[in-house]
Formats: sequence, C-alpha cells, structure tokens
Amino acid sequence: MNITNNIKKYRETLPKNVRLVAISKTKPNSDIMEAYEAGQRIFGENKVQEMTEKWENLPKDIEWHMVGHVQRNKVKYMAPYVKLIHAVDSLKLLKEINKQAKKEDRIISGLLQLKIAEEDSKFGITIAEAEKILTSEVYQKMENTKIVGLMGMATFTDNDEKVRSEFRYLKKVFDDFQQKYPAFTELSMGMSGDYHLALENDTTMVRIGSKIFGERNYQ
Ligand SMILES: *Cc1c(COP(=O)(O)O)cnc(C)c1O
Repeated sequence: MNITNNIKKYRETLPKNVRLVAISKTKPNSDIMEAYEAGQRIFGENKVQEMTEKWENLPKDIEWHMVGHVQRNKVKYMAPYVKLIHAVDSLKLLKEINKQAKKEDRIISGLLQLKIAEEDSKFGITIAEAEKILTSEVYQKMENTKIVGLMGMATFTDNDEKVRSEFRYLKKVFDDFQQKYPAFTELSMGMSGDYHLALENDTTMVRIGSKIFGERNYQ
C-alpha cells in the first residue's frame, strides 16, 4: 500500500464538501504519520484505548473521531480530545458524554447511529428511538454535547442495489431530521467498499480504512 498516494488520490477526487475520515484502527503510528504528511488530519478509530494512545503520541492538530460502539465507562478517557463520536446509540451514553465533556469544559459532538442494514449484528437505533432522544428534555438541557447528524452502515454485500437503497433511505431520514433539527449538518456513510454509493446519496463524511492503509491483521 502506498499510503501517501492513496491519501492524495482521495483528497483530489472526493467532492470538496465531503470529509475523509481515515480509519487507522490496528495500524501503527508510522502509517498515520505517513497519511498526516500527505495532508490528512482526520483519523477514526474504533477502540477508545487505542485511540487515546495514538492521541498521546501523535501531532495535536489531528482530529480524532470515534467510529466504533462506545462503552459508557470508556468515555472519560477520550473526553479531553475526541472531536466527533459517530455511533451514539442511547440517551444513557449521551448523558455520560455530556458529563465528561463538562468536566473538560468542552462541547463534544455526536452522530446518532441508525440501523439501516438487515443483519442483526449491526448496531444502531430506529428512527423512533432517535426522535425520542432528540425530543427528550434531558437531551435538550445538555450543554456540553450536541447531536450534529446521523451515521449508518450498509449491509456487507456486493449487491450494489441493496446498499444503494439503504444509503438512499438514510439520506431521506437525514433530510427529514434536518428540517426539525437545524444542528444536523453531518451524514457519515460509506466505507472502502461502498463509499462510491454513499457519494451518490450526498454523504458528508466517508470512513475509509483498508483502501488507504491496506487490509487489517487481527490477531
Ligand atoms: C473499520 C471501520 C470502517 C472502515 O472500514 P474499511 O472497510 O476498512 O474502509 C468504517 N467504519 C467503521 C464504523 C469501522 O469500524
């Protein structure tokens, strides 16, 4: 993998209003630095501990995004620095994010992860659950956290039509929510295998890992 060329390619070809989140989970700091030197500043991780170690050792102008499922007891470790939490899926988690952000005197943004795929294994909530969170008095009183959009993961399949229809659905839900919640500006959808289909449906953030850094080795 030529990380420098990959970053350059995405920076040149993605529409200007789409942000590239380089998913660096399992990859060493040297790989992240190569992407950084090619101009990349937004990196995404799916484990709080791994992300925190990287934050400690890498340039401080990197914007760190948590894209994985978050356990409440881990929020405090990333509260000092995390920029965006992509997979908020409960009011309880949001309460903890707000509490820890307040301690750090920060405002932490989040996205609600909607379930758009069929598989049971995918995390995420329904539209009704999202509405319930956004309209709750508890959320509306929070001063240190703000939901700024939606995230979704399509079914893992090479059936493009299926993926396309899931993204189209998420985009429609996003548009509806945006009418009611003007803070909604971000739609995080699209990964290495399907980001081209997400682009067709006006994604604002693509989360690309293996096509930048190569396949991941999990021990
Ligand atoms: C790992 C991961 C990605 C990136 O996956 P690739 O297929 O390697 O691009 C994107 N989003 C989430 C939530 C992930 O966990």
